[in-house]
Amino acid sequence: MELLLLGTGASDGIPAFFNDSRVSRHAREHGGKDVRTRSCALLNGDIQIDFPPDLFCQYRREGLDPQDWSALVFTHSHEDHFCVSELQYALFPFTDRESLPYVIYANAEIERKIEARYPEWPIEIVQTHSFESYQLGKVKLTPIAAHHKEDEDSQNLIFEQDGKTILYATDTGIWREPTWEFLQGWSFDLLILECTDGKVPQAYHGHLSIETAVSVVDRLRNMNALHSSSTIVTTHHSHLGEATHAELERLLEPHAIHPGFDGMRLTLG
Ligand SMILES: [Zn+2]
Ligand SMILES: [Zn+2]
Repeated sequence: MELLLLGTGASDGIPAFFNDSRVSRHAREHGGKDVRTRSCALLNGDIQIDFPPDLFCQYRREGLDPQDWSALVFTHSHEDHFCVSELQYALFPFTDRESLPYVIYANAEIERKIEARYPEWPIEIVQTHSFESYQLGKVKLTPIAAHHKEDEDSQNLIFEQDGKTILYATDTGIWREPTWEFLQGWSFDLLILECTDGKVPQAYHGHLSIETAVSVVDRLRNMNALHSSSTIVTTHHSHLGEATHAELERLLEPHAIHPGFDGMRLTLG
């Protein structure tokens, strides 16, 4: 499997709109890995994970074509992950197509919002439920319950192919016990873990800071869900976390965790 991190920023990106925080100023001045568009990823070149408002520019930046998609998988309905207005451009009258050339995998809330927005559209949506599995061609998808947006089945996503396993865990606080129990017996070759709050823990339960992200990684290591050759990469960073990319590298290095960046490619197998 190959996972491309197209965006690694939190909801307002870095440099944040209308914000002059130190991390935003640093990103404006230095560019590079300090610029973070809204979080999403592309698996194997054809399975898109989330549809943020930055997707158009992310695809231009990487020279990609969304017409290659076989599937679009959503984690939850927050607007930095689910830009419903952009879906219209794949269909008539913007194209000659009368049906989507890819399958949408989404929870019930997202399905309801798509159907409310596009009641006439023949869109194929597979409704996903945490702890159930779905076959996307050669890739097996198993969503797990995130601890995030509590009025819907917010999901983190496990992908399996050819004996390799990825856990893509954007937008979650510390998982509730049913998720920890489900994770018993799994072994992840690659963990993508959110680190929204960086050095500055927030009162909201639905995101991780460096401290809580490290506690999640430690617990996964203790239960052998992560092994010595597992790769651990962060995503969904907020400028309010008060850490530049270089500072994140320094703070995470003792824990063998790597800060992700826009355009990062991770290959397994
Ligand atoms: Zn988010
Ligand atoms: Zn969210």
